Amino acid sequence: MRRKLVAGNWKMNGSLAANAALLAGIKAESAGSRCDVAVCVPAPYLAQCQSLLVDSPIALGAQDVSMHESGAYTGEVSAAMLREFDCRYVIVGHSERRSYFGESDALVASKTLRALASGLIPIVCVGESLAQREAGQTEAVVLMQLDAVLKQLPVDDVSRIVVAYEPVWAIGTGRTATPEMAQEVHAVLRERLAQISEAAAAEVKILYGGSMKPDNAAELMAMQDIDGGLIGGAALKVADFLAIVSKV
Ligand code: PEP
Repeated sequence: MRRKLVAGNWKMNGSLAANAALLAGIKAESAGSRCDVAVCVPAPYLAQCQSLLVDSPIALGAQDVSMHESGAYTGEVSAAMLREFDCRYVIVGHSERRSYFGESDALVASKTLRALASGLIPIVCVGESLAQREAGQTEAVVLMQLDAVLKQLPVDDVSRIVVAYEPVWAIGTGRTATPEMAQEVHAVLRERLAQISEAAAAEVKILYGGSMKPDNAAELMAMQDIDGGLIGGAALKVADFLAIVSKV
């Protein structure tokens, strides 16, 4: 049985004061939760959040990582740096990075490898746009995105990733995939993992992301292949994030 994971993606939000209040609220109420909980915070706040999460079961994550190990890459943040702040997770290939910063499938694969090499758990995001869904291309798009990563990974490393299915049309829009729509895609992704390694497919968590809220989280996370959520907007409100965690 895969343990579920609820990970907040704070995106480019927060301040020292707001982060402290948010984490204080989450920490106070999430002890004893039945799932793994993580917060993926903006890089400048890693040190603050690391110290606020000492002795807490809430894991720390980042939202991006460089494909390079170190060196003259102005503005980049390396996987080794993230590890120094006790990051456990890093999101790679979020659709906002793919669309606003031109990240290609190949770059996402390189970032995934770099994260794994430093002992981080990459949360590899895949998802189709509305136009692609309407053109019947959902399966082909998400498999192409996943395959780009899988073909670079040694088989033994496949079980070390987390996958997040995030339909682009559902992110930050209030439109959510129905549990059945999401399950259908999750099953396709799991099947692809199984073609490489049955054992890995049984282990890899596949999260759903896209306007997951307290009122739809339970039914989404009840689906067979949905192993938790990657939460954007609702991760910025203590009550909403905790309510989602409590639905597991
Ligand atoms: C996200 O950005 O990963 C996300 C799922 O956002 P939201 O929950 O706001 O749709």
